[in-house]
Amino acid sequence: MVRAFAFLLVAGLAGCATSAPAPIYRQPSTPSYQPPPSYGPSVYDSAGRAPVHSMLIACNRANGSNIGEVNYDYSLVQYTPYLDTPAGPLLRAPTEGACLSSGFGYRGSLDRGRQHNGVDLANPNGGYIYAAGEGVIAFADYRGGFGNTIEIDHGRGVRTLYAHMAEFDTRLQRGSRVYAGQPIGRMGMTGNATGVHLHYEVFVDGLLVDPMHYGRPPVYVSAPAPDIAYLPDEEPIDDDKPSD
Ligand SMILES: [Zn+2]
Repeated sequence: MVRAFAFLLVAGLAGCATSAPAPIYRQPSTPSYQPPPSYGPSVYDSAGRAPVHSMLIACNRANGSNIGEVNYDYSLVQYTPYLDTPAGPLLRAPTEGACLSSGFGYRGSLDRGRQHNGVDLANPNGGYIYAAGEGVIAFADYRGGFGNTIEIDHGRGVRTLYAHMAEFDTRLQRGSRVYAGQPIGRMGMTGNATGVHLHYEVFVDGLLVDPMHYGRPPVYVSAPAPDIAYLPDEEPIDDDKPSD
């Protein structure tokens, strides 16, 4: 017990001894979170392209809102890495590695809830954020509750938005071209955010769409076929009746 305590003490002192260089990000939401140290734009040159995730896990045992169907291991049922848009395929989860903490749609109670216009991909350790597809930077700046934000115009009426970034590649400006999977920034919690995550929005023809479900075939539900012989004769089928 004493030995364990001594080890913790030494480890604690060792942790204090190292000092990270000052980060570039603009506004930390809470003092407890320290974004990863920035080493300048070159870090984005060596970061590599976006990984393609074959599955996406729901955070917190799928306890978030609008997560959708999950498997026994909390991976999303029917997850595919790309969503098909008029501008071509876009990554559904353009992060280095994160879980889905909140889905698209209305959350909370009817009187006190609000619409969530994107999906939240969370990782307390941060990580890179990538361009979901090829395009042109339409916005790269700090934007109120969104914090450090990037918007990419993919053409044909398709846009993506990335919010709460710890920082972004400062060479990116309005008009800069990005390739599909290009590292554009790092995950953080700037603006109005309670944890380190990417808030990701996808617009198609001016409408916000669900990045997890857009372009996916509908889920077919099956039920046991009724045994015709036991159906009552005199029950008329009435389409106006609410079904149970
Ligand atoms: Zn969000």
